[in-house]
Amino acid sequence: MESTHHTVVIIGSGPAGLSAALYTARANLNPIVFEGMQPGGQLTITTEVENYPGFPKGIMGPELMDLMREQAQRFGAQSVFKNVTSVDLSRRPFAIRVDEDLHAADAVIVATGATAKWLGIPSEKEFMGYGVSACATCDGFFFKNQEVVVVGGGDTAIEEATFLTKFASKVSIVHRRDALRASKILQDKALKNPKIGMVWDSVIEEILGKVDDGKKTVTGVRLKNVKTGAVSMLRTDGVFMGIGHKPNTELFAGQLEMDRAGYLVATGGGTKTNIPGVFAAGDVADSVYRQAVTAAGSGCMAAIDAERWLEAEHG
Ligand code: NAP
Repeated sequence: MESTHHTVVIIGSGPAGLSAALYTARANLNPIVFEGMQPGGQLTITTEVENYPGFPKGIMGPELMDLMREQAQRFGAQSVFKNVTSVDLSRRPFAIRVDEDLHAADAVIVATGATAKWLGIPSEKEFMGYGVSACATCDGFFFKNQEVVVVGGGDTAIEEATFLTKFASKVSIVHRRDALRASKILQDKALKNPKIGMVWDSVIEEILGKVDDGKKTVTGVRLKNVKTGAVSMLRTDGVFMGIGHKPNTELFAGQLEMDRAGYLVATGGGTKTNIPGVFAAGDVADSVYRQAVTAAGSGCMAAIDAERWLEAEHG
């Protein structure tokens, strides 16, 4: 089957993918970006971004991603709004399949990101970005002197709850068991914090809210105690999911080295994977920082690593 040849294929279109596109485009490598089904990545499901440098008044997440794409396209990056369906990284050039189309690539930058885990109830979708969030660092600031709920009992939930006490007047951690999974040091710190209260053995059945003048807000959650079956209401202004993230790496199973949680392993403090010519950038290889600005930075690193590798390999 005929394939289309590219010097650089970028898979993913969050800040990492689009920054890699900008840098490889400016290096005349004519990158093609397979943007996937959520072009722009996780920032497209947040509202205002206030911590991306260069935007002192803040910027809406989707607008920031549109600007990044526009900037990469200005230098010739090409976007394709499709999902990559399979990859074969065992041969060179690498083979990338997108439905029926086959693409060949000298170098591949993987920037497929991670997906926050959600509870899977309809009301969380309805209020996502309007009081429901999976990122305290991104959205905590909007809850000054308000009450919030954090769901989960692992490091993420406890860390986010502690962070949220900087803004919120009260943080209730709703956990489905009676013991936390989080590391002892984080637990101790959180449990000592007078603003944090625990709601044990409980799950959120529904997020409650209202629409006033077209503006949606969260007003509470309906809780169910999993031991007694008792249902109760808890007033809250916001709900933060802290039940973990899942790196989007299924496509690379058995080909790229991953850690136990499924994140790609990059070597030497850079972006090189176990396969020469394949580079990893952004949240797909980062379970620690997970910020737009760190993802953009690693996209830039991956582009420079790819450019140098291509130069050494192909001249
Ligand atoms: P995690 O350790 O998998 O914890 C997820 C938590 O969410 C668990 O308490 C789990 O309950 C709960 N949960 C999962 N699905 C749920 C659902 N559908 N409904 C209600 N609750 C649900 O995830 P994580 O906290 O994101 O941590 C992931 C990894 O990153 C860990 O290795 C962690 O140590 C690391 N991390 C480290 C730091 C740090 O060191 N500062 C910060 C963040 C993350 P159960 O306990 O009942 O399973």
